[in-house]
Amino acid sequence: MIPFNRPPVLGTEINYIQDAISKDKLCGDGPFSKSCQTWFEEHFDTRLALLTPSCTAALEMAAILLDIKPDDEVIMPSYTFVSTSNAFVLRGAKIVFADIRPDTMNIDETKIESLITEKTKAIVPVHYAGVACEMDTIMQIAAKHDLYVVEDAAQGVMSTYKGKALGTIGHIGCYSFHATKNYTSGGEGGLLLVNDEKFAKRAEIVREKGTDRSLFFRGMVDKYSWVDLGSSFLPSEIQAAYLWGQLEGAEQINTHRLTLWLTYYEGLKALESKGLLELPKVPEDCKHNAHMFYIKCQDLAERQAFISYMKEQQVQTAFHYVPLHSSSAGIDFGLMDDDTYTTIESERIVRLPMYFSLEKTEVNSICQSIISFFLK
Ligand SMILES: *Cc1c(COP(=O)(O)O)cnc(C)c1O
Repeated sequence: MIPFNRPPVLGTEINYIQDAISKDKLCGDGPFSKSCQTWFEEHFDTRLALLTPSCTAALEMAAILLDIKPDDEVIMPSYTFVSTSNAFVLRGAKIVFADIRPDTMNIDETKIESLITEKTKAIVPVHYAGVACEMDTIMQIAAKHDLYVVEDAAQGVMSTYKGKALGTIGHIGCYSFHATKNYTSGGEGGLLLVNDEKFAKRAEIVREKGTDRSLFFRGMVDKYSWVDLGSSFLPSEIQAAYLWGQLEGAEQINTHRLTLWLTYYEGLKALESKGLLELPKVPEDCKHNAHMFYIKCQDLAERQAFISYMKEQQVQTAFHYVPLHSSSAGIDFGLMDDDTYTTIESERIVRLPMYFSLEKTEVNSICQSIISFFLK
């Protein structure tokens, strides 16, 4: 069986973990955490990078930093993971779901402005499959209406939009290092990218349980105390040590994933020309990170048949998300008026195996199975 996902491992991670153990450095913000954070600050144009236990935690920090209050409204796509929404619901916000574009499955930037009210505080674009949302338009809308932009770039590490790294364009960006993402910090993990200086000081406080402990460690205050709202948003050094191994091999992982992605694309484009399926679309301004390779079937029924067929061929495939506006919590906490594409397009998607240890020969054989399904 070719599994749908395997977490990325380069082989160096175990040595770094051993190193953290031998040096008695296991709690958060040790040497590996600092190295990882510096790596992001040096490679990407961001003011401050802070490791978190997950992307979910980074999103929750973002909602605290934006001072989201009950009855505030936050605009985001319905086609996303629950955490995008939950983080803001936890602060009492109402979620206003926007429709997606059928080509990229990203929030439709042309449909955002009509959803803005006096209560709107933020827009949360989600870069689906590591392919950027139309950020210039989104940032212009935000500036015009005085709104914040939090990028859910969980899937977008190493992707760019007009040369800018995803996660560094909005006021705040959030990455995931979960085992299913391109880079992992040992199964769970995330990063908060603070791009707007005004959030930098408070971000460190919120992350340190609402204390000014980071200032204390830097010798900038003589004792630390409780100064603000906060929680425990530090991952352990074991997680950071694992991630450090992955960051050293970041290009290697990215290059291999892109090769696999292109192999799928080349192997399946004849089926697309025949109108039998649809392949992912990457707009010109976007460089993606091959987070995902998906195909779109005609409809739900064909997708079910396809998934069963692939299982018989020993290939595990997957689909997601049930649009949030149609889930029971989504009905309670959110609202969606225009669902032209979200439901219909989400029912067509099937994700194919895509991970660092997958081989090109395996991708070629998966393509053969797909061809035999569609040409049967
Ligand atoms: C994976 C994912 C998350 C959650 O990431 P965790 O690190 O598991 O908390 C959030 N949003 C999107 C779009 C994701 O793909």
